[in-house]
Amino acid sequence: MRHNDHPSPTSFFLEPAERRLYLSWTDEHESLHNWETLRWACPCAWCAGEGGVPGMLQSRQSLSTEETTLINIEPVGRYGLTPIWEDGHKTGIFVYEKLRAMCECDECRRQRTGA
Ligand SMILES: [Zn+2]
Ligand SMILES: [Zn+2]
Repeated sequence: MRHNDHPSPTSFFLEPAERRLYLSWTDEHESLHNWETLRWACPCAWCAGEGGVPGMLQSRQSLSTEETTLINIEPVGRYGLTPIWEDGHKTGIFVYEKLRAMCECDECRRQRTGA
């Protein structure tokens, strides 16, 4: 996977009232992410499973408020971010490409549906 020519986030902003994360990117896009969507997409082995073993998320119908409350973001190397959740969970690494592909702003959603 190449990372050099891909936009990377330059800053982030948490909006607790809307339970959303906003990220500014090097290509000047501002991406929008609902906390709950991010939590359900946690790619760590515990949440998403690994090697054919189902993850915690596959056995859950809903998540608690603590589990879906984002309290901070930490950079991982130069390729990803780790959300820090209120329940203490912080092992999910979202690589930039994936994070950007998950942007829920109107523009990106339109592009993804091809409408
Ligand atoms: Zn996880
Ligand atoms: Zn977007």
